[in-house]
Amino acid sequence: MRIEFRRQEKIARCLDPSIGFAESQVRTEIRWDPLTGESALVGHFVGFKLEPVDFTRQIEESRPNCPFCPERVLDHTPKFPTDLVPGGRVERGETVVFPNLSPYGEHSAVAVMCREHFIAPSGFTPSMLSDAFLACIDYFDHITHRPGTDFAIVSWNYMPAAGSSQVHPHLQAYASDVPGSLLAAELAASRRYCEAEGRPYWTDLIEEEERRGERLVARGRYTAWLTAFVSLSPLSDIMVIFPEARTMKELSKEALEEFSRGLCQCLGHLGSLGIYSFSLGWFPARKEGDNHFRLHVRLSPRLYVAPRVWCTDTPTFSYLYREPFMFRTPEELARGLRSVIRLC
Ligand SMILES: [Zn+2]
Repeated sequence: MRIEFRRQEKIARCLDPSIGFAESQVRTEIRWDPLTGESALVGHFVGFKLEPVDFTRQIEESRPNCPFCPERVLDHTPKFPTDLVPGGRVERGETVVFPNLSPYGEHSAVAVMCREHFIAPSGFTPSMLSDAFLACIDYFDHITHRPGTDFAIVSWNYMPAAGSSQVHPHLQAYASDVPGSLLAAELAASRRYCEAEGRPYWTDLIEEEERRGERLVARGRYTAWLTAFVSLSPLSDIMVIFPEARTMKELSKEALEEFSRGLCQCLGHLGSLGIYSFSLGWFPARKEGDNHFRLHVRLSPRLYVAPRVWCTDTPTFSYLYREPFMFRTPEELARGLRSVIRLC
């Protein structure tokens, strides 16, 4: 069971009106994820260009009543019962963590990351990001001795195209015994791989990507950065693997600082490409066990494919058939990122 990057080319033929109805061919590709076996399409989406979106009006109109702005956050957001979190909230740097009024489950919190109402992708600082993630880890420290908290997950919906109803930057911190379908599939496949090969899939993946040189972006002391062979975003996903950690709790201060530094550089690059929204998720092992698994982060750029008509990036094929569609290849995204990620 070695790591296989399986792909199959498909060629579509048509009589193209732009060349006098002469026959033209368009190449597409199907890929299969080397871990889970899930498939995705790569196509060129003829003529696609990332169109800018002006969020000035949404940013300004949401500011006066924003519950996350510093003049309101302590009065307008709930507190934890003190048996869950002494003091009712977790604070670290500019980050404030409080219960989610629309919880995902029993243990569901929101972490307002900063005092600024809006920060562009290139405007985050490493300390702002590491404080926000550390505040979520602080919250988990209060609750994960309780039952039903096997998986401690942090996610980030940045701006509306990623499903965020608030402009103000915030994270979701969530602990549950049900980790979600993708993480469950990764855990099961990772266990099978390790049983067959005697080594974790994740460290083999880093080695194989390093050998191929197509999608590996950078390696630091604590992190490995690559783009995902099978991505969920039309613009491809970035993955960051922590070869020495299984959960966020196991991260050293230095590891989180290295990650936050790289994430700032990465977000700056995405911003320079015109990307204005993203989904970010931490994928951990169970709080105990799962020695075959390694903590990783997936960062998935989100967009309106045609903003003039609010065309989202989730057409029926990806939404109902669960077949993601990439317009740009992970290899192309990796080439651009290699010049900007400097971890040491
Ligand atoms: Zn605000």
